[in-house]
Amino acid sequence: MELTHSGQEVMNPDGPAWVEELRSLRKGQWIGGNIHFFSEVDSTNTRAREWALKGGGEGLVILADAQSRGKGRLGRRWESPPGVNLYASVLLRPPIPAVEAPQITTLAGVAAARALAHVSGLDARIKWPNDIVIHGRKVAGILAEMEMEGDRTRFVILGIGVNVNWEEAPPDLKGTATSLRIEAGKEFPRTLVADAIFAELGNAYALFLREGLSPGLQEAWNQRSWVNEKRVTALWEGQKMEGRVLGLDRDGALLLRDDEGQIRRLIAGEISLRM
Ligand code: ADP
Repeated sequence: MELTHSGQEVMNPDGPAWVEELRSLRKGQWIGGNIHFFSEVDSTNTRAREWALKGGGEGLVILADAQSRGKGRLGRRWESPPGVNLYASVLLRPPIPAVEAPQITTLAGVAAARALAHVSGLDARIKWPNDIVIHGRKVAGILAEMEMEGDRTRFVILGIGVNVNWEEAPPDLKGTATSLRIEAGKEFPRTLVADAIFAELGNAYALFLREGLSPGLQEAWNQRSWVNEKRVTALWEGQKMEGRVLGLDRDGALLLRDDEGQIRRLIAGEISLRM
């Protein structure tokens, strides 16, 4: 096993007890059967991409206790303090056309929302395109980065950050971010949260490989959506559109009825929603 150690990145092959427990829970499983743990890393997605380029197998997980440069979409930052939250990236190699790769975000949203609801008993919902919210505040973010080979998908790095035991979000995020602990008033073992996410992800991904973005998956997404039926403002590159969300369509685009009554299709990429 070869890794370039740079700056403060620390590879920890055995990991602390919670990682050992997670390894034994995931032994022999598709997602997380092989976990590389770091006490601190720049970004789990960046590390996972390196492993992917070196031929890492599907289901490989990069897990970190902290990230010094956790990534959101479009170069935005994901706050990743040590000791409390979950930062994991999963390597997937779906044999699908590149145009379908963004649907991985859709199935990951369903899986993450289900897992967090199951573990915490809280009403975890998907905020299109890539966040999981509880009572409207962000508890988890998903960042899928894909590598293409012609018009095929070479691999997808699926990053998931979950605010598990954060006591409080930094001041600038207080209004928009939360954690399982803040919402439930108690702590949750990271082992259980990660295990639930990897298990749900394995199920949703297996179904996706068999049936694509099936009506069942679309329906599951719509049931767990935080934005459906709500009035939103969609923002991208200085542009803006207001309307009411109708739901996810068969290709994973979000349908919006604008104020002129026109149905618009929003494709993830650059768009952010404000409620
Ligand atoms: P957006 O949700 O604004 O479209 P992203 O999905 O890329 O953007 O997420 C990045 C944004 O999420 C950051 O700009 C910041 O506002 C917020 N954020 C950063 N870290 C966290 C965190 N740990 N929990 C919740 N929200 C966060």
